Amino acid sequence: MKGNDVRTAVGLSVRPYRVDANTGLDPRTTTMPTSGPLVDAYGRVHSDLRISVTDRCNLRCVYCMPEEGMTFLNRAELLSFEEITRVASVARDLGVTSVRLTGGEPLVRRGLVDLVAMISALGFDDIALTTNGIRLAESAEQLKAAGLTRVNISCDSLRPERFASIRRRGELSKVLGAMDAAEAVGLTPLKINVVLLRGDNDDEIVDFAEFARTTGRVVRFIEFMPLDAQGDWERERLVPGREVFATINERWPLQALEGPSHVAPAERYRFADGAGEIGLISSVSEPFCGTCNRLRLTAEGSVRNCLFSDDEMSVRDVLRRGEGDDGVAGLLRRAVWAKFPGHAINEVGFLAPRRSMSMIGG
Ligand code: SAM
Ligand code: SF4
Repeated sequence: MKGNDVRTAVGLSVRPYRVDANTGLDPRTTTMPTSGPLVDAYGRVHSDLRISVTDRCNLRCVYCMPEEGMTFLNRAELLSFEEITRVASVARDLGVTSVRLTGGEPLVRRGLVDLVAMISALGFDDIALTTNGIRLAESAEQLKAAGLTRVNISCDSLRPERFASIRRRGELSKVLGAMDAAEAVGLTPLKINVVLLRGDNDDEIVDFAEFARTTGRVVRFIEFMPLDAQGDWERERLVPGREVFATINERWPLQALEGPSHVAPAERYRFADGAGEIGLISSVSEPFCGTCNRLRLTAEGSVRNCLFSDDEMSVRDVLRRGEGDDGVAGLLRRAVWAKFPGHAINEVGFLAPRRSMSMIGG
C-alpha cells in the first residue's frame, strides 16, 4: 500500500506525500509495520506518550482558556484510570519509555496519585507531570512515593500582580511554594514553563534567566501557540526563541547543550559560567517536527499524533467494544503511521486546530 492509500485506509485526511520543506523528511517506507517500535511513515520512532487526565482546570490563563464559558467533558466521557493504564501498558510494549501526565490541570482529577502508582508499576524510565502548581504542595510527597519521577511547573511571571493578570486565578506564592515542595521530595530536575506574551511578560526574560541561575531550576521559554480556546492568537504576540536567546546571551553568555534530551523538545543552553540552564521551545518560529517522538492521549481517549492536527482516533471506542490489547496496539500503530511530516504552521493556509491546548493536553 502506498502513501495516500495508507491514509485513506486508516481513515485520516489525505495529504500528498512529498519531502517536507520544513523538516526535510521523506517517507522511506510505504508499508505500516505490524511489529517493532511505533514508527511513522517518515521513520520517526515514537517513545513518548503524553496523557491528558482531564480537560478541567482551576486557572484560566489568558493564552489557554477564556475567563468564562468553557464547557467540559462529563465523567462518563473520561477514560477511567484502568483504561488509561491499559493504553499505557500497550504503549510500553510498543517501545514507549516516557510518560507525561497533563491536562487541563492534572491535579484537579481526583485520585491522581493512584493513577501514578498504576502507571509506575508498568516500568517506564520517566513519568513526569506538567502542572500549574496550585495544588502540588499538598500531594508532592505521595506523588513521589507513587513513582512520579519529576514535575514541570508553569509560571509566567515572578511578579504577583502580573501573575494574577495572566493566569487570572491562583497566586504566585502558591506556585513558588510548589517548586520548593517538589524539590524537597526529589521531583527533579524541576523545569519551569514560561509562556511569553509580547507586551505582557517579555520584559521578564532576564528576571527568569536570573531565577534559573540562582535556583538551579531549568526555565523553559515557550512560544505562544495558536491553541488558545478563544482563538485570539496573533503572531505579533509571540516572542521568538531567537530573541529570548539574544536577550539572555547578551547578559550572561550561553552555550548550547548537546541535542534535545530524549524527553524534551527544548533547545537547551547552559550559562557559560556554569550557573544553570535554560530551554527554548520554539514550536512556531523553529518547528522541531523532524525529531518529534510524541504521541498524545486525550482525556476522553482519543489518540492524537500532533498538537496541530485535527486527526484523532478513539481508543476509548476500541476499549469499550471489549477489544483486546491487539486492537489497542493496532490503533496506536495506525495513529503514529498517519502522522504528517510537519505541522505546517508557517505555511499559507494553515488552520489552527479545532480543539485547544487544554482539551488536547499540552
Ligand atoms: N495546567 C497545566 C499547566 O499549566 O502546566 C498543564 C496543562 S497546560 C495546557 C501545559 C503547558 O501548555 C503549560 O506549560 C502551559 O503554559 C502551556 N500552554 C497552554 N496554552 C498554550 C499556548 N496557547 N501556547 C503555548 N503554550 C501553552
Ligand atoms: Fe489551566 Fe494549564 Fe491552561 Fe493555564 S495553561 S488554563 S493552568 S490548563
